[in-house]
Amino acid sequence: MKYISEFREQRLTERIAKRIVDIAKRIDREVKLMQVCGTHGMAILRYGIVDLLPPNVKIISGPGCPVCVTPDNYIDKAIAYIRQGFLITTFGDMVRVPGSESTLLQEKSKGGKVKVVYSTMEALNLARSLPEERVIFLGIGFETTAPTIAASISMAKEEGINNYMILSGHKLIPPAMRALVEDEEIAIDGFICPGHVSVITGSRVYEFIARDYHVPCVVTGFEPVDILLGISFLLLQIQKNEARVENEYGRVVSSDGNLIAKSIMNKVFIPGPSEWRGMGVIENSGLVIRKEYSAYDVETRYPVEVTSPKVDRGCRCGDVLRGLIEPPDCPLFNDPCNPSHPVGPCMVSVEGTCNIYYRFWSGRVNRKIKISGKTD
Ligand code: SF4
Repeated sequence: MKYISEFREQRLTERIAKRIVDIAKRIDREVKLMQVCGTHGMAILRYGIVDLLPPNVKIISGPGCPVCVTPDNYIDKAIAYIRQGFLITTFGDMVRVPGSESTLLQEKSKGGKVKVVYSTMEALNLARSLPEERVIFLGIGFETTAPTIAASISMAKEEGINNYMILSGHKLIPPAMRALVEDEEIAIDGFICPGHVSVITGSRVYEFIARDYHVPCVVTGFEPVDILLGISFLLLQIQKNEARVENEYGRVVSSDGNLIAKSIMNKVFIPGPSEWRGMGVIENSGLVIRKEYSAYDVETRYPVEVTSPKVDRGCRCGDVLRGLIEPPDCPLFNDPCNPSHPVGPCMVSVEGTCNIYYRFWSGRVNRKIKISGKTD
């Protein structure tokens, strides 16, 4: 795999890290760079990139995990459908995410119909082969997964399959980034934009952040050289008081993104308000199924009323998702909250910040060292 190894080359990594230190010396304050993608969060800890950064450069995590940002209310609705006899299909992580009073896995153990699938096509096939079942696919995720779900709806309509439906909880990243950058409590100096999402959206979609908020953005890949280069690009802009979108991941991401994927997504969905865990309802940050496809929208066809009581589990996922705290700052981190017994969604998914910290940072937590480089 020569191609990958080029992006892990040690001497190149060290040279870029040194360049980062040099640029950071010319910035006489702490700089907060937010990554908005669980895979970036994982790579940054896994490859020890934080160890290469100077003390005044802090990487904070944002809402880059689809499972984590899905609120209790969505899980509660899915559970309400299970209790009405619907067959719920979903990607694996969702079954362990706590709702207000139960999880999909607990419902399954009580006889509820829940099946983990690996693609929307598998869910559609299930509906095709079980015409007596009302099959719901849990439509969560960002711009990366929405096109495949749109394609499954389009295919179901063409084939006249009428027992396949979506519970749409899709989220769009740019409106969430706007909400984050407007949040003065967080005070973000630069964005490491999500690589996978950008493949679909293109890098142009972040231009409003640089233009309207004077916050630099960089699209990067997931290898150490990619991430370090991205950080160096951001720091150079900050040092020069500039703000624009730079694309370090040009081998995969274009300015306009994947036009075919965007076209199928726009054919089936329109943007609408959506609730994010920890961030509340953000205008135009969700995807609503268009009227022409309403037969595939389970909430239109079979509306459910769910009142989700506010449950205080002591979980601080909302603050983790806004980059206000690091997971070890949560009193429940590690004990009792860990991947085997997750208290909150950020510990469930492998893209969740708490889960990532648990796997790649726990040894340091015991030594009380934080990602910011400070020691307690
Ligand atoms: S450690 Fe657990 S309880 Fe704390 S914020 Fe993370 S998921 Fe929630």
